[in-house]
Amino acid sequence: MERADLRAIYQQGIAALEAARDLDALEEARVRFLGRKADLSNLLRSIAELAPEDKRVVGRFGNLVKKELEAAYDARHTQLEQAELVHGLAKDSVDVTLPGRELPLGHLHLITQTRREIEAIFIGMGYEVAEGPEVETDYYNFTALNTPEDHPARSLHDTFFVTDNVLLRTHTSPVQVRVMEKQRPPVYVIVPGKAYRRDSDATHTPMFHQVEGLVVDHGITLADLKGTLEQFAKAMFGEDRRIRLRPHFFPFTEPSVEVDVSCMACNGNGCRLCKRTGWLEILGAGMVDPNVFGFVNYDPEEFTGFAFGMGIERIAMLKYGVSDLRLFYENDLRFLTQF
Ligand SMILES: [Zn+2]
Repeated sequence: MERADLRAIYQQGIAALEAARDLDALEEARVRFLGRKADLSNLLRSIAELAPEDKRVVGRFGNLVKKELEAAYDARHTQLEQAELVHGLAKDSVDVTLPGRELPLGHLHLITQTRREIEAIFIGMGYEVAEGPEVETDYYNFTALNTPEDHPARSLHDTFFVTDNVLLRTHTSPVQVRVMEKQRPPVYVIVPGKAYRRDSDATHTPMFHQVEGLVVDHGITLADLKGTLEQFAKAMFGEDRRIRLRPHFFPFTEPSVEVDVSCMACNGNGCRLCKRTGWLEILGAGMVDPNVFGFVNYDPEEFTGFAFGMGIERIAMLKYGVSDLRLFYENDLRFLTQF
C-alpha cells in the first residue's frame, strides 16, 4: 500500500461526500468510503500483515484519512439535514393571510322554518309543545275523537292502515287525547307533527304537517278561540289581518268552524289568490265536544275547551306565495334556497 493510494482514497472520498445532493446519496458515499467493505477499512484491518515500512505509513496516514472523511461526512450530513428541513417547511407552509374558501351553507327547510314560527307564536301565548306517535291505534285516531267505527267521517280520511287496528295517523289530533289522559286542566298545548293520507295532487301530499292546538280550562268560550286565532293570524301574516269564522263540521268539536284570514295579497279586496272573495281559509277549529271529554274523564260541566288544526304547508304556501305543494318535497335547491 502506497501513500498515493491513500491520497486517492482521501480525494475521491471527500469529493463524493461533498457532491452528495441528498441524505440518500450521502449514505451511499459513506458506505463506499467508510463502510465495512470500503478499501480504507480493508486496509486498516490488514495492517498487521503489512511489511514494517508500509505498516507505519498506513497506521499514521490511514487513520488520518479516516478521521478526515468522517469529519467531512458529519459536516455534509448536517448541511443536508438542514436543507431538507427548510425545504419541507417551505413545501408544507400555509399562507394564513390568504382568504378562506367559502363553503355553501345550508339552512332549515321552509316547512321547518314555518313550523318553528308557528310554535314561537303560541309559546309566546303561554302554550306548551307536545308530541305523539305517528303510528297510531284506531282508538286514538278515531274512536276517542268521537268518530266511532260506523261514522261517515272516517271515509273522508283515506287512511293508511298498518293492521286492522293500527294506522298512520291521519291528523295530529290523537295527541290531544294522549295529553288529556296524562294531565288535568288547565291544558294549553300545541302539537306539531306529520300526518298521512292516501292523497296526492297540487294541494295534497301523502305525508303532510299539521299543528294541532288544544285549550281546556274553566269558562273557555268560542270568543277565546276567535281571539286566540286572530292573534295568531296577525302574528303570522301581519297586523292588518282580520279573521272570520264559518260554520263547519268536525266529529270532535261542536260547534265547529272553518277560519279564514283576510287576503294578504289584495288586503281583502278580491284577487286571483283569494278567488275574488277577499278571504283565504287557513284552519279548522271548534269547541271540544263533551263526548271527547268523556273518553279522558274530564267533567264537561266543569271544563270547556277549544281545538284547532292547521296544515303547515298551507300556511307556508300562503305566507310565501308557493303555488304547488309538491315543490316542498322535490328537494330542488333552486326552490329551497329562495327561503
Ligand atoms: Zn286576495
